[in-house]
Amino acid sequence: MESKNACYDVIIIGGGAAGMSAAQYAARSNLKVLVIEEKTEGGQAVFIDRLENYPGIAEPVNGFNFSLTMKKQAEDFGAEFLRTKVTGIDRAGDGYEISVEGEYAGKSGKFNTLTIIIATGAEHRKLGIPGEDEYFGRGVSYCATCDGPFFRNKKIAVIGGGDAACGEADFLSRLTDDVTVIHRKPHFRAQKAVADKVLSNPKIKVIFNTVVMEIKGGGSGTVESLVLRNIQTGEGSEIKCDAVFIFIGMTPRTELTATVEMDGNGYIITDENMATSVPGIFAAGDIRAKPFRQIITAASDGAIAAHSAAEYISNLKADGGK
Ligand code: NDP
Repeated sequence: MESKNACYDVIIIGGGAAGMSAAQYAARSNLKVLVIEEKTEGGQAVFIDRLENYPGIAEPVNGFNFSLTMKKQAEDFGAEFLRTKVTGIDRAGDGYEISVEGEYAGKSGKFNTLTIIIATGAEHRKLGIPGEDEYFGRGVSYCATCDGPFFRNKKIAVIGGGDAACGEADFLSRLTDDVTVIHRKPHFRAQKAVADKVLSNPKIKVIFNTVVMEIKGGGSGTVESLVLRNIQTGEGSEIKCDAVFIFIGMTPRTELTATVEMDGNGYIITDENMATSVPGIFAAGDIRAKPFRQIITAASDGAIAAHSAAEYISNLKADGGK
């Protein structure tokens, strides 16, 4: 690949758990690796106060510190990191040219790479109501597996009516016998079997036709109640709760990746090697179409994507492509 741009074997877009795991594995395989992350490295993990379900780490660890360690591990193996926004991906020779915002250490805002690993993640949709941001991490959560255990035997509210809301309400009912699901429609959107499990669970109360107007806290600085409105009658009410889990869908960050095949919800389809429909482009982490989104599954995806990128490059070189 002849270019005046800096050239890499792998450019990883997104510095969350998937991207950093991919960076570590790729750099350790002696590949020249650049991770481009728009914000702080760590992705959703940086918001986790106590990470306690990562195998091998017995004592709870702060998500931000965990992310710093992941980054250092990748850097120690030689991966480079750049904080900027990717603005374009174009085919160039046997690989790709990646454009970024601004200049980087005096170089142009363009890089060449033989392979790309897309690890830009997905964002939890927000309700956009008062209290949601203020009490995030202090009773407001978007992850039952991560935060549910902190509210054992407490009053828990779940917002949403899809598979995630119903599935997670069922999970939370194993931690407390006081779960209330609040959904804006008169029936669930979730698959019947999942919805029926919630409707027949004596530990779960369901409030239909109702939206949450505000999340309120108290002197303790944590969630204490929800202000509700019945959208059929217009009647207002307030219920007490210690935590509110919001599952109103996800938005994958795929603005850059229109050329790869996606499922109906906008997640990138890969094979088990993390290969997308476009040769040389791999995807890892929450942006993939998959059933279980966790730090551990993102890290696993990243390792597999890096391995696949290394194999792809080795085949490319064997074919005399470079
Ligand atoms: P969905 O998009 O399926 O459901 C989102 C739910 O949130 C809907 O009930 C929707 O209401 C409600 N909602 C959306 N916006 C708001 C809002 N502003 N205020 C109040 N409620 C709102 O998202 P999920 O995350 O549940 O699932 C995403 C995809 O992942 C789906 O395809 C699902 O099948 C899949 N999934 C599969 C699982 C499994 O198979 N085990 C587990 C989890 C997810 P309304 O119904 O009115 O639109």
